[in-house]
Amino acid sequence: MKLITTLDIVALALAAIHFGVPLTYYYWCKKKWLPRPWNLKTDPNYRPRVTIIVPTYNEAKLIEKKLDNIYEQEYPRDKLEVIVIDSASTDGTPEKVKQWASRHPDLNLKLIQEPERRGKAHALNTALKHVTGDIVIITDVDAWWSSKNTLAETAKWLADPSVGAVSCLKKPATPGLAGIEEGYRQYYNTLRLAESKAWTTPIFHGELAAFKKNLLNKLGGFPTHIGADDSHTATRIALIGYRAIIPENILCIEIVPQKSYHTWRIRRAQHLIQHFIKTVTIKPKTLKPFKSILYMEALLHLINPWILLAAILLLPISIVMGSLLAVIILMLGTALLIYGPYRTWATAQLYLIAAVVRNLYTKELVWEKLSST
Ligand code: GDP
Ligand code: MN
Repeated sequence: MKLITTLDIVALALAAIHFGVPLTYYYWCKKKWLPRPWNLKTDPNYRPRVTIIVPTYNEAKLIEKKLDNIYEQEYPRDKLEVIVIDSASTDGTPEKVKQWASRHPDLNLKLIQEPERRGKAHALNTALKHVTGDIVIITDVDAWWSSKNTLAETAKWLADPSVGAVSCLKKPATPGLAGIEEGYRQYYNTLRLAESKAWTTPIFHGELAAFKKNLLNKLGGFPTHIGADDSHTATRIALIGYRAIIPENILCIEIVPQKSYHTWRIRRAQHLIQHFIKTVTIKPKTLKPFKSILYMEALLHLINPWILLAAILLLPISIVMGSLLAVIILMLGTALLIYGPYRTWATAQLYLIAAVVRNLYTKELVWEKLSST
């Protein structure tokens, strides 16, 4: 029996990198970027023409509540257009939309029905052809804007000519599996906000993703070959020189699927991975702060989970070689799972690893609607 092997040292070094890099980045974000001023010319009275696009596939249960939430927004009605784009729902979603519209004739609402389902991004591009607003906001059905002022607040930030896109912070409607979702959100919201203050965040949210229409035209619409249409569009807007930000007071409440939570997280991870792989190959010739943010996030999503996996796999080998330390590290690493933030982190790494494997055989560009109950 040996106390320690070379493999233990390698495993510990890999673990130190795996946990050290994101922790350092997190504290850097909190201490250096978060306290910064925005340096933007915002205007609380800016009221551009806005088109809200609501993509729907089998959302009959939630669509009325969603439209109510939009209807409650305090924003001039004559500046507001809503487009519901439905892709061949089979649960009566379009009928629900028509009934709702007939009860609210004062809202300019268009329903567009695609004869065939070809994915969310494809549907968004179909809707884009009908947009009359200068600002386009995408919003998923299974999420709500937290305040009546969310829309006006979004416009406020878009008043600055250097801002090309705005998204939201997120809060789960229910804490999710053993609080994983809640913990994950707190950590990620801090990063999103800090990166936005530094320049731009490469991760956007479909619960509220606002873009200037002329920039969407420049990009030729939403990408249909990868899943994260929101994040990828925001990042491409940043790559042509505009800021894509998540400010502090735009909040969305999102329904977290209870039954298929893991499947859901893995699919979302798959989309983010597709986005980062695509983005880092574009080779940003962009402003400095965004380059480092983009590469750091790409590292955290694409490489860092595998460093942890390598460290974990070395330990059993070391145990077979007779190491006592490897036994202790493995036991400690497992016991720590009772500590919430550590468990949240470890699960996120698992999702990212599983996502790479799944990406090898399906890109999940058209996905199953997961039940919220
Ligand atoms: P998740 O939040 O990542 O789990 O994705 P969702 O399944 O909630 O989908 C996000 C939004 O896109 C929801 O409003 C869906 O109804 C909508 N959606 C998903 N797939 C399609 C599609 O193929 N066509 C259209 N029009 N909307 C879709
Ligand atoms: Mn959703």
